[in-house]
Amino acid sequence: MKEFDTIIIGGGLSGSSTAFHLSKKGYSVLIIEKEIEGNIMPCAGGMASSMRKFLPLNINEAIESKIKNVEFRWKSSDNVIADLSGESPFWIVRREKLDKLLLDEAIKFGSEIIRPVKAVKITRQNKTWIIKCSNKVTYKSKFLVIADGSQSQWAGYFNLGPKNPRFANTIALRLKGLGNIPKDSVRFEFGFVRYGFAWAFPLKNSVNIGLGTFLNNKPLEDEDLNNKVIKSFGFEDLSFKVAHKRLRIWNGIHKLNGDRVLVVGDAASLCDPFLAEGIRPSLISSYYAAESIDKCLSINNNDLNNYSSIISSEWGKSMAWGKRIAQIFYRFPRTGYQLGVKRKTAPKRIAQILSGQMNYEDIAKRVIKRLLTKSED
Ligand SMILES: Cc1cc2nc3c(=O)[nH]c(=O)nc-3n(C[C@H](O)[C@H](O)[C@H](O)COP(=O)(O)OP(=O)(O)OC[C@H]3O[C@@H](n4cnc5c(N)ncnc54)[C@H](O)[C@@H]3O)c2cc1C
Repeated sequence: MKEFDTIIIGGGLSGSSTAFHLSKKGYSVLIIEKEIEGNIMPCAGGMASSMRKFLPLNINEAIESKIKNVEFRWKSSDNVIADLSGESPFWIVRREKLDKLLLDEAIKFGSEIIRPVKAVKITRQNKTWIIKCSNKVTYKSKFLVIADGSQSQWAGYFNLGPKNPRFANTIALRLKGLGNIPKDSVRFEFGFVRYGFAWAFPLKNSVNIGLGTFLNNKPLEDEDLNNKVIKSFGFEDLSFKVAHKRLRIWNGIHKLNGDRVLVVGDAASLCDPFLAEGIRPSLISSYYAAESIDKCLSINNNDLNNYSSIISSEWGKSMAWGKRIAQIFYRFPRTGYQLGVKRKTAPKRIAQILSGQMNYEDIAKRVIKRLLTKSED
């Protein structure tokens, strides 16, 4: 039986991106994906364009909007607009297309994928991983990448990431037309959703709407309130289907690798606990995962510790502040909105965060001080 250099469990964004980087370097890769091709992802597709550096391929086809303004509202009023022009823009990508482009390119470089097939049992013999799948076939590899998303079964099995993962509850829907959302703006709506917010991100001819609650596992069951939020985005016809998803969010710095195994993307609990940004950490983690595995395979070593340290410094440090900001902001959202969003310099800072030019660590100490003391700059 063929032994692959790497098997990746999960063919979503982070799995496909890891496969792309590894197969581009010439390694043999197998992706095991449990779903059929073409499912719509409950993801709004907002992405900092600075992420291009982790995507060395043409993704123009997946970019549906280039965002110039970010609108913030408190209960449908009290608007603040952050101007992104002049900063690196923020893009809205159609996730199904982005994931497919990455996967197709990985396959072009030699990656293989089997679907719909679930990994059901994983064992190891000496240096070889043995993966039994729901199609009754067993596959072998030297390295293993866990990329099975927020509902990950395998991250915990290998003790990777937090022992007690934290989740945001989300609702996602895609509506035809743009409602009252300008085609080059995204909107963040605060005040309606307890411990969270709602967002509307425009694609070419539709809008991705989401509601998320980030503290205390608060469910989003109040249908009247949800409909009120959706109406505030300019939609009257409320006969739509929604997708509910529990999104695994960042919960501390933890080891993300073991011996010849590592975890990427949502399965690694990398999603931003304040704004639910998960595309960026998926692309960053898959890029460094491929770099670390490449290093091991090229010098016949199995030490992936470097991967956990890089993710901690490149992403975790900022998220530690993101978590603190979320805990204060969502507990005291009105004050948070007045002092964190409505200040003169806030729109520029927010634009810089969204475009990837600044991280939470850069702004957090000042923001927290302000939120706690209500002091002026
Ligand atoms: C409502 C919503 C809106 C969002 N909006 C944004 C946004 O605007 N911007 C942003 O940056 N982030 C956003 N995110 C977060 C972003 O969607 C995720 O962080 C991103 O999808 C993570 O990619 P992933 O590949 O790690 O996981 P996924 O995309 O979930 O992929 C995991 C894959 O693994 C497969 N799988 C699972 N178990 C197995 C198994 N046992 N065997 C084989 N395959 C398996 C699944 O079928 C899936 O294809 C949003 C999330 C939600 C829920």
